[in-house]
Amino acid sequence: MTQSGSQRIAINDTTLRDGEQAPGVVFTLPEKLAIARALSEAGVDEIEAGTPAMGEEEVEAIAAIASANLPCRVGAWCRLNESDVDAALRSGVKMVNISAPMSRLQMRVKLKAEPREVAERVTRVVAYAREKGLEVALGGEDSSRADLRDIGLIAGAAARLGAFRFRFADTLGLLDPFSTYEYIKRLRDETDLAIEFHGHNDLGLATANTLAAIRAGAGHASVTVLGLGERAGNAPLEEICVALPRTAEARTGVDATRLAGLAELVAHAARDSIPRAKPIVGADIFTHESGIHVAGLLSDVRTYQGLDPAMLGRRHKVVIGTHSGLAALRAICAAAGIDLDGKAGASLLARVKAIAKRTKTLVPESRVRQLAREEISARERGRLHDSL
Ligand SMILES: [Zn+2]
Repeated sequence: MTQSGSQRIAINDTTLRDGEQAPGVVFTLPEKLAIARALSEAGVDEIEAGTPAMGEEEVEAIAAIASANLPCRVGAWCRLNESDVDAALRSGVKMVNISAPMSRLQMRVKLKAEPREVAERVTRVVAYAREKGLEVALGGEDSSRADLRDIGLIAGAAARLGAFRFRFADTLGLLDPFSTYEYIKRLRDETDLAIEFHGHNDLGLATANTLAAIRAGAGHASVTVLGLGERAGNAPLEEICVALPRTAEARTGVDATRLAGLAELVAHAARDSIPRAKPIVGADIFTHESGIHVAGLLSDVRTYQGLDPAMLGRRHKVVIGTHSGLAALRAICAAAGIDLDGKAGASLLARVKAIAKRTKTLVPESRVRQLAREEISARERGRLHDSL
């Protein structure tokens, strides 16, 4: 998306890390490389390539991506310890996201620590990663259940050692756009670090929350293709990239015409299908059946067009079913050089609707044209008969 005069937002894709955490999703090494290449070609700014602590196979996969000379930053996800940083170093990445719990609950359960101890541990691990020459982002797990002063304390410790960004993770997808906006606004008073928002979709609000976070001052969106990820998934890359310029006066470096191909690639690798009505990339989002809508579109496309399909490399498509009207039938016939008069049209429409009802599906254009020819010749025969 290339709109000038608006804020440039970084798109950080975590399909290969959070996306692969979706139940039953496994990417092979060639699939990971193909996804990473497609992401960078589409223009994402950063790829979170995996979790090195998962083992040597994962380290090798991350290494293959890190050494592919992609024109974007490649990072790895680490827990809050030095051995995870060592595993990341073996993968050859230049950047790590070091994740630390921000809520008191997660601090207690996962680290048996209080905020000050977490800050000390962040100081130690971030210092270690920086000494090894890594760029460091601090990941704030469960930030949406945290006291923002705790985040300020811990992010401050990371910032002093040269961390460049804080990830506000709505790990459990608890927020709504209004609370997200308030949190991120207040967080800006607690830290000078760049802010990335990582939203989960448990309430179906990940996209809305990410847009709210950006409006409140976050400069980075953490996303996955198709929203693939833990539980209900993450904010979908394709929705964020298309919605940002329209809703937040912000833009990304992503080429929107690449989104459909990217979605297909990831869906195939995840052995999943893309829902037909999936925003931005679903097969049916520019397909129109309703007679009222089709008549409007055919008269002036702006009547029922919110999103221009051309910006996604796509086009409107008219289909014939029980909700169709005469305008669609006329257009289909006219394209085939068939001139449909009023009576033939009305009769054709009734027959087409009856077929669609009986078969509970669409009527193919070829069938519509065949029926139209039948109607016209029946009428001509009738006229001939009358004149004899
Ligand atoms: Zn996540």
